[in-house]
Amino acid sequence: MIDSKPKYARARDLTLGQAGAIWLRELQPKFLLLHLFGWVGYRVYLLGQGDWGWLDLVPVALLLALHPFAEWIIHVFILHHRPRQVLGLRWDYHAARMHRLHHRDPWDLRFVLMPLPIMVLGLALGAVVFWLLAPTAGVWATTMIATAGIAAYYEWIHFLTHTSYRPKGRIYERQWRLHRLHHFKNERYWMGVTRHLGDLVLGTFPDRANVKTSKTARTLGLLDPPAGEDA
Ligand SMILES: [Zn+2]
Ligand SMILES: [Zn+2]
Repeated sequence: MIDSKPKYARARDLTLGQAGAIWLRELQPKFLLLHLFGWVGYRVYLLGQGDWGWLDLVPVALLLALHPFAEWIIHVFILHHRPRQVLGLRWDYHAARMHRLHHRDPWDLRFVLMPLPIMVLGLALGAVVFWLLAPTAGVWATTMIATAGIAAYYEWIHFLTHTSYRPKGRIYERQWRLHRLHHFKNERYWMGVTRHLGDLVLGTFPDRANVKTSKTARTLGLLDPPAGEDA
C-alpha cells in the first residue's frame, strides 16, 4: 500500500542543501546512512583490535567494478520486468510496480527511492553472504561499508536528478542528462543511473541523435491502476 498523497520538490532551482534536506526527510536515506555509520563504527572498533590489512581493498575494488553492471541488471530485469502469468499466477515484483509508477510521474518523490523493505532485505542478504565469504570480520565490515556507501550514493543521485536542482559539475551533469533521456527520450536506453559502463558494454548507450522519442517512456507499454490502489 502506498501513502496516497503525492510528494513533489518542484520549487524552482533548489540548492544542493535544500535538495539534501528534502532527501533526508525520507525514511530510506535515514535508514541507509544510519546503517552505513553503524558499519563504519564497527570497522573502527575492529581497527582498534588490530584487525586490518590490504585484503580489505579486494571487496571494495570488486564492488566498484560490479556496481555499473548491478545497476544495469536490476533496472533491466527487475524494474522493467513485464508482469506475466506463470502457471495461472501473476508474476510481478513490487519494485517493478513502483518503477512503473515512477515512470508514470517522474516528479512524484514517493516512487523515486527504493522501497524500504527491499532495501532492508537486500542489505540483510548481503550481510549474510559477505559474512560467509569474508576471511575476517574486518573484511566483512569493509564490504558492508562499500555496499551501503554505493546504495546511498545511488539513492542520492537518483533522487537529485528528479528535483529542480540545476546540475553543476561534469560528472553530475552527465548523470542528470542521461537519466532524463531514459525517462523522456527512450526508456530502453541509458539504464545506468550513477554509472554507465553497463550501458556501454551491453549496448544501451546509443547516440541520442539516432534514437526515436518513445511513446511508452511514461507507461513502459503497460497500464497499472493509479497510485494508491493495489492491483
Ligand atoms: Zn528515475
Ligand atoms: Zn526505468
